[in-house]
Amino acid sequence: MENNQPLEHVHLLIIGSGPAGYTAAIYAARANLKPVLYQGIQPGGQLTITTEVENYPGYPEGIQGPEMMVDFEKQANRMGADIRYGMASSVDFSSQPYKVTIDEDKVITADAVIIATGASAKWLNLPSEQRLNGSGVSACAVCDGFFFRNKEVAIVGAGDTAAEEALYLSKLCTTVHMFVRRHEMRASMVMQDRVLKTSNIIVYWNTETDEVLGDKKVHGVRIRNIQTQETKEIPVEAFFVAIGHQPNSGIFADYLELDEQGYIVTVPGSSKTKVEGVFACGDVQDKIYRQAVTAAGSGCMAALDAERYLSAKGLH
Ligand code: NDP
Repeated sequence: MENNQPLEHVHLLIIGSGPAGYTAAIYAARANLKPVLYQGIQPGGQLTITTEVENYPGYPEGIQGPEMMVDFEKQANRMGADIRYGMASSVDFSSQPYKVTIDEDKVITADAVIIATGASAKWLNLPSEQRLNGSGVSACAVCDGFFFRNKEVAIVGAGDTAAEEALYLSKLCTTVHMFVRRHEMRASMVMQDRVLKTSNIIVYWNTETDEVLGDKKVHGVRIRNIQTQETKEIPVEAFFVAIGHQPNSGIFADYLELDEQGYIVTVPGSSKTKVEGVFACGDVQDKIYRQAVTAAGSGCMAALDAERYLSAKGLH
């Protein structure tokens, strides 16, 4: 969109405010790169929709996800990062300095850009699923499965993530009810095999979820067999949605290499993208690990890569 806003030039622009973005900001600020970070529409990222985080090192008693992200922000702030509310709406990486438009209005130019826009879990979009999100409905078994140990739980999905999460849950929970919408799974054969051989995972084929049941917390789920239209209620205390993630990479598609699922492709072992001086970290480029601690680690890598790049260009 054309506009008449004056340009602001920044040395290093960071887009995104999950563990990757804030960690990049902490490292970049300490290296005197004067980073400006735009938080996006969900400041703090996906962790702000989880409850307790028990697997992030350094919090021996665990911590609430939203609180942890406030800590990340405070730390980046204390180091001198300029943290702003706003959403990158388009980019122009065709020539340097790179241009990033915020909220379809303000244009920023930057010597280097770190992309940390994360990914968003896909949901079924049932009203009951949204209402009980965080009260038994979760899109992350590794984050929340532990709270339902020795309970019955359900999971929807049939890809590698769903298979991996069902297996993870089967080690903690008494029974895992797994709902597959077709007559077969999409997951790799080896993962399917493991799921089908696990005695406490019950697979329901050709099955859709009608409703997650519960008032303040999940106490069951109503499913429907697509072929027979028969419905059934199953008592469970948690409902895990594992139908894939969508990396938030759309605005970069014209400039960066994306894989077939939309994840930004980086040079292995680094945060470098196809465009010199543009780096990517966290879930927007990681479909395998997707943990807060791995995202933070890759944010650190991006800041170090950016620092080296700016030094080599004589810009720092
Ligand atoms: P996928 O896109 O591979 O699978 C999504 C699954 O969810 C599909 O089975 C799909 O069903 C199902 N689904 C989608 N929408 C709905 C819906 N509305 N209702 C019910 N079911 C639905 O996503 P994943 O996250 O599983 O995997 C993403 C990529 O990451 C894959 O390439 C995977 O191989 C990879 N991965 C690799 C791992 C590893 O190597 N260890 C671990 C995890 C992921 P349908 O099949 O009918 O379309």
